Amino acid sequence: MDRAVPDSIFRTLARCLQASKTAELCGFIVKGVHDDHTFVAVPNLSPSPACFTMSSLDVRRVRERAVRSGGKLTALVHSHSTDTRMSIDDEAAFMNCDLPWLIVSLFGRALSWHYYKLDRECNRVDRSTALVTQGQMILDSSDEPRNTRSR
Ligand SMILES: [Zn+2]
Repeated sequence: MDRAVPDSIFRTLARCLQASKTAELCGFIVKGVHDDHTFVAVPNLSPSPACFTMSSLDVRRVRERAVRSGGKLTALVHSHSTDTRMSIDDEAAFMNCDLPWLIVSLFGRALSWHYYKLDRECNRVDRSTALVTQGQMILDSSDEPRNTRSR
């Protein structure tokens, strides 16, 4: 089972989404030198509430800070207000990105997610070559996760 995204990250993302419901949340998962994972939010510059745009300067800063501390970026994260499948625009951007993508959406206490990872061994480049893991985490009142995953 793909444990690229630990439960602590899903809890962090759920809290971020609870705090800000206006624009799409975006950022990166950074894996530290001790196998620790953190979510680093990047300002969403898109004027549209249903899109995300990150400045290349912000992206470079996050990447350089991760590398300086011995870590690396392991996924690009953004949120959707409705479902967690890639949009047409997402697909195009994903194909030009060297990172897996995590798309999350919060409905009440349920955080849904799709995790896309391109199979670079494969010659065909389209969404059907992306390895997809999806699941949902229900946050209960004590914030303890009940996580279900499926391929
Ligand atoms: Zn999207």
